Amino acid sequence: LHALEPGAVRITGGFWGERQAAGLAAIKNGYARLEEAGNFHDLQLAAGTVEGVFRGPFVIDSDLHKWVEAAGWQLGNDDDAELRAMVDHVVRLLVAAQAGDGYLNSFIQVTDPEARWQNLREGHELYCAGHLFEAAIALRDGAGDHRLMPVAERFANLIVRDFADPSTGRCGHPEIELALVALHRATGEVAYLDIAERFLRRRGGGEWGAYYQDHVPVDQASEMVGHAVRQLYLCAGVYDLYVERPDPGLLEALRRQWRDLVERKLYVTGGTGARHEGETFGDPYELPSDRAYAETCAAVGVAMMAQRMLRVDGDPLAAEVMERALYNGFLAGLSLDGSKFFYVNPLSSRGEERRSPWYRVGCCPPNVMRTLAALGRYVATRNDDGIQLHLYVDAEVRTALAAGDVGLRMTTALPWDGAARVEVTRSPGEWTLTLRRPAWAGSFEVSLNGGGLSLPGEAGSVPIRRRWEAGDVLDVSMALPVLRLRSHPAVDATRGCVALQRGPLVYCAEGVDNSGSLHDLGVDPGAPVRAVEGTPAIGSATDLVTDGTALGAEAWAGDLYRADAPDELEGARREVRLVPYFAWNNRGPTDMRVWFPETPVGG
Ligand SMILES: [Zn+2]
Repeated sequence: LHALEPGAVRITGGFWGERQAAGLAAIKNGYARLEEAGNFHDLQLAAGTVEGVFRGPFVIDSDLHKWVEAAGWQLGNDDDAELRAMVDHVVRLLVAAQAGDGYLNSFIQVTDPEARWQNLREGHELYCAGHLFEAAIALRDGAGDHRLMPVAERFANLIVRDFADPSTGRCGHPEIELALVALHRATGEVAYLDIAERFLRRRGGGEWGAYYQDHVPVDQASEMVGHAVRQLYLCAGVYDLYVERPDPGLLEALRRQWRDLVERKLYVTGGTGARHEGETFGDPYELPSDRAYAETCAAVGVAMMAQRMLRVDGDPLAAEVMERALYNGFLAGLSLDGSKFFYVNPLSSRGEERRSPWYRVGCCPPNVMRTLAALGRYVATRNDDGIQLHLYVDAEVRTALAAGDVGLRMTTALPWDGAARVEVTRSPGEWTLTLRRPAWAGSFEVSLNGGGLSLPGEAGSVPIRRRWEAGDVLDVSMALPVLRLRSHPAVDATRGCVALQRGPLVYCAEGVDNSGSLHDLGVDPGAPVRAVEGTPAIGSATDLVTDGTALGAEAWAGDLYRADAPDELEGARREVRLVPYFAWNNRGPTDMRVWFPETPVGG
């Protein structure tokens, strides 16, 4: 399956429209945060227009590049004069800071020009360059502003020259590879694809080790290892190379790594990268809830890899994982109002976590911004036969099939209610519209122009081939039962526990809704769980999600449980209130947990 062209999917409202609005607020706030963090100052130092001391960490430019990328895609969604003015200032800073030969990295230029390309393992120079390339493309294809493309191309041409020796070059933090493939696609320059392939194929010599994914060549990899974000960006780059230069060995490696991720290293939230130490993947099934690292950037990486694996063969599991990451592990990284972020996303908290407006290493905030601004890329794909819809969101889709132009308008009450409507607004004749029957849907009924369709009964792809005409309407009705999820029994931390999901949303309990401790509660496997409509629980901090659905689950309260008098269990029952995981920690620091034992605890 092919990705749709930039701008083909425009989010028009609903749940993700609200999240994009929060993302826009975050982008505008982010401009001030970049200024405070020294991003502008450090570029001005590189340009020689101010004097002073370099302020940022060595990777600081990448935060600004990702912010520009977010702004570029966002301006494509909705033009905004204030944001354009911000972008204009940043573009001027970048143009001025670029060295005469095309090099651009404020840290190296200011602190030690002699150190250029001298520490590829730790220096992140190529990583920062990759984010610059992505920013330039987003600004051109989103905002219609071409001014960073010459900056990106001059820098890329320098990289092609500086790494002409095939025995040199690769970056300790992958990202340049997928960005060079993107720049190749954006310009047609084959040298960018060649150097991307070189950087990928150069890995595996072993001298840097598994932390940097240098322990094995990319076509022989079988596990997700080392630094989680690096591994996920690397896999995205390998896939992008595979699309341009299909080598079955690359795809087989990705399939092995994907299975390792999904079957052994993925949290129920779609987060990954269990360990704080080194921001790395844990061992297989090492998925602690309270000590989960699950960096927001890693959830972005999961969505990026899932979206690519989905394109290999339309695997519905990949769509499930992509959606799981986006609605849960990723979205928890942004506060409801768009003002604060999470870097680390545990599944259990004793109230220590605080959202922050920015971070010293500010990777996650602009990663959230650029992902939200470009959310449309996750919604649909196409092939020669037609269009495949993977996420039900409020959106307009406009793309071209071989037969001609297609237009779709989607509206939905998801994730709170399981109704979705797909209207055909433009059609070239006969083609296949493929719906997704999500695994979480308790039922899946589709009517076409008011008449019921008979469709397969399993989760997965639901292709509907016909002569589509403008005005055709598909109404999709899905039941959203509360699902009781259990982890793989090899996951020590959550064995014997249950997590609750409704629709695509994983739920958690917060202390602020539940008196007493959350950490000695058990959910009764036999007791009902109720959906509580229109709860104020989520919206009380902000009005952004006022129509959200909470859950009420009967639980044993462990502090009242007496091992010597189990009959008294009845008296210890109380209802636990749960809210969507993405919305947690919007009402101040509080206890939280996702997984609940299915047996009474305490005593
Ligand atoms: Zn991050």
